[in-house]
Amino acid sequence: MNSSAIKLVAFDVAGTTVNDDGLVIAAFKAAFEKSQPELWPEKGEIWTQYAIDTMGQSKIHVFTELLGDIELAKAANVAFEEAYMNEVAEQGISPITGTLETFAALKERGIAIALSTGFSRSTLDPMLFELGWLGLIDASVTPEEAGRGRPHPDMLNFLANKLNIQTPESVMVVGDTAADMQSGVAYGAAQVIGVLSGAHKEADLHAAGATSIINSVADLSSLF
Ligand SMILES: [Mg+2]
Repeated sequence: MNSSAIKLVAFDVAGTTVNDDGLVIAAFKAAFEKSQPELWPEKGEIWTQYAIDTMGQSKIHVFTELLGDIELAKAANVAFEEAYMNEVAEQGISPITGTLETFAALKERGIAIALSTGFSRSTLDPMLFELGWLGLIDASVTPEEAGRGRPHPDMLNFLANKLNIQTPESVMVVGDTAADMQSGVAYGAAQVIGVLSGAHKEADLHAAGATSIINSVADLSSLF
């Protein structure tokens, strides 16, 4: 594996660089319950499983798939974001152990650091502010800013353009979900690294095209 050519590492947020601890799924449940109180008792289990399976994809897209209507999806997404920020306010938000050290090691090598996510900007920015990462990372992107969310490669294209990265062969993608891996493969990233600190298991990440699996971002330096 040739890691010396890597110029950009594009990390996922929840479950990859930021501790999740079930907050995202709890927020999904709260959003369904609030926006679809009649259907929730009947559909709750199926919807929750779908939210788990599609973790990493654009949240608004997942709601649209489930509810079959963009306006209903927007209402559910607002409820999701409120619930998630409430959970974050209650429980706090913290980096996955080793993230800051990994960022520092990449910076030292002159490698750009970017974040992509399934959240909207109105959720991501307060998180980055809370973490103190706004000045630390080189770029971040959300699905609506790039066009489509994962498993499409749009967010990776957006980041590469923004940071003047000429070829996908200079890019490493790191994430905790199958959708993260699929987007990296679709983009043509040199390396697509799965981490086991988040939503999906090793077999799912492999099946989705991971080129390597590590326990967490703390182990990323072992690939350089
Ligand atoms: Mg994630």
